[in-house]
Amino acid sequence: MAATTEPTVDAHEGATQASKKKKAKKVVADNSRYLGAETVMPILVKSSHAKGRYVVSSKDLSAGTLVTVEKASGAIVRNQSFVNICHHCFKPVASKTQTRTKVDEQGNEVAGQTERVTVPAHSCDKCKMAAYCSEGCQKAHALEHDVQCDALAKSNAIAAEHRVPLEHLRSLLALIGRRFADDKNMPGEGVHYKYSGQDARPTPYSHALDLNPNRHYLDRNAIKSMQQALKDLLALVPEAARISLPEAVEAACIFNTNHHSLVVNGQQVLGLFPFSSLYFQHSCNPNCMYVGETDATLFIRTMTDLAANTELTIPYVELYQPREQRRRDLLMTRHFWCKCRRCSTLLSNSVDRLMDGIQCTECKRGVMIFEETKEVQDINELITDMSALDQEIQGKFAECEACPAKIEVTKLVDVLKAAITDYSEAHIALQRGEVTRARQLMEQYLRNYEDKQVLNPYNTYLVNTYISLIQVCSQLGEVDRAIRYNAIVIERMEGAQGATPENYPRVAEYHMSMGDMCLKQAKLKAANQTPAGRSMARKYFKDAKPALEKAFKARTAIYGKDSPRAYEVKRLLDEYKKEHDEFVKTTEKKKISKKQVAAAAAAATAATAAANTPPPAAMPAQTPAQQQPATSAA
Ligand SMILES: [Zn+2]
Ligand SMILES: [Zn+2]
Ligand SMILES: [Zn+2]
Ligand SMILES: [Zn+2]
Repeated sequence: MAATTEPTVDAHEGATQASKKKKAKKVVADNSRYLGAETVMPILVKSSHAKGRYVVSSKDLSAGTLVTVEKASGAIVRNQSFVNICHHCFKPVASKTQTRTKVDEQGNEVAGQTERVTVPAHSCDKCKMAAYCSEGCQKAHALEHDVQCDALAKSNAIAAEHRVPLEHLRSLLALIGRRFADDKNMPGEGVHYKYSGQDARPTPYSHALDLNPNRHYLDRNAIKSMQQALKDLLALVPEAARISLPEAVEAACIFNTNHHSLVVNGQQVLGLFPFSSLYFQHSCNPNCMYVGETDATLFIRTMTDLAANTELTIPYVELYQPREQRRRDLLMTRHFWCKCRRCSTLLSNSVDRLMDGIQCTECKRGVMIFEETKEVQDINELITDMSALDQEIQGKFAECEACPAKIEVTKLVDVLKAAITDYSEAHIALQRGEVTRARQLMEQYLRNYEDKQVLNPYNTYLVNTYISLIQVCSQLGEVDRAIRYNAIVIERMEGAQGATPENYPRVAEYHMSMGDMCLKQAKLKAANQTPAGRSMARKYFKDAKPALEKAFKARTAIYGKDSPRAYEVKRLLDEYKKEHDEFVKTTEKKKISKKQVAAAAAAATAATAAANTPPPAAMPAQTPAQQQPATSAA
């Protein structure tokens, strides 16, 4: 994935440095070891000088089509989820409380002192660095784990000594375990694809080495520390499984700069998926989405209907963000400067102008636009000195898109800085649990920056304020208001055309919360037998339905129709139907009884008016409404 822009740069500019020459050789990639993917997935693997490796659809695909299933070459449970899920299958782990000898921050035991700790029901007794859901999983993991065990036992201490992230060491050990298991299990090569369940085989370690380590983007000192730490670590790996130090550094860098972060069973997992990383390029307007599932398996599905021969892309960053922010995020985490179509379109023609849009103070209709003209050539330089991006704006002017007004870009930056400061203040209050104050600050924020037309309505600071207000108002029990803010969030995210694709999971979650809250409120208001209550219930039922339907459509596309997430919405839709039918039945009764009263009144009037002609007075009794026996109870 990190190969996205580099091969283009190298191929066009010619490489002088040795490292660049080495990379240039990788430009036209050999696809042969990945051709197997074409036989089981509706995709074709491709590579070219200009684009590097990529995949296209082999036929027309509808939204929600599975296009890749890949089991990680190496995956680790993140530190914060360490004891919560199984280190083999990533299912939740039962825990128990235990008394043990106290351990200090360096991982050394303190003699004579004990502490109570919660530990997983099953774990490796030797290293205490692997939790399992069952003995079965511990056994299944033994081939990979045994060669890591001694090194894992000391990994905390090594990480602390050399000041390197523990996760970097653990991820390398996971790859070493994979390599060892590959040799034992799968002599010979080949990626093993599957569509479902248990028969998956992890992508071999050797394939992971096809990925770009992006070493020259990493800080020299960081690499030096990593080298020293890995040297200590490798000394604890049995010889049969050991790799050379240079290879270990390469593999650690590969994991570090190519992994996917997944949420599996609500917990954090990092996994390396060589095929997906190599062939599914990033786009800020992607047509596919990846999700992680139990067993460290990555599923990629189409988000939209696609014609045959369309390049398949996935997002590596949040898409409802300003262009600059997306590019910086990608630069820091993936080490490339995004030049996707959305990022390359002139700002004045792109939805991106709105994402951090500041309104023109003259006409209040347009946003101020500053087209960046500087092309980023040396990413390495940029990574070490982001201020290069800030220097570009000195002495430049932004122009209003709707009137002739101009303003210095630095002045616009001041407006934005003030907006960020106020935004942060409100969110710090929220983090501190000062919910009422947070709400006041946030609503004040909307008055200052939206009502006074300082920021464009689609500006992420405004939209994120509405998002926080949903949470704040829910916490304060003001559900009606939370629903109103939720509706605004959906309206903005979908209204900013081109900012998020159809079925985008983040938007789907706002449809989900909308549907869920509306349904709950509808039930509550329906129980309130007053006309006002019924009218509110009617409104909430009306809003719940399309929200739940959209959430269902998106979750089916992203997670699959048989996924728990799709079922969760399905259940709410069923509940909606049941409750709504019930509501219609009872309100019809009310309507009928109202009609009955009116009819009876009319009959009485008629009877009085035409006292001399008795027979017509009985006429209303013939209307179908009055034939409903149940109404008499009302
Ligand atoms: Zn397990
Ligand atoms: Zn162990
Ligand atoms: Zn982009
Ligand atoms: Zn203007």
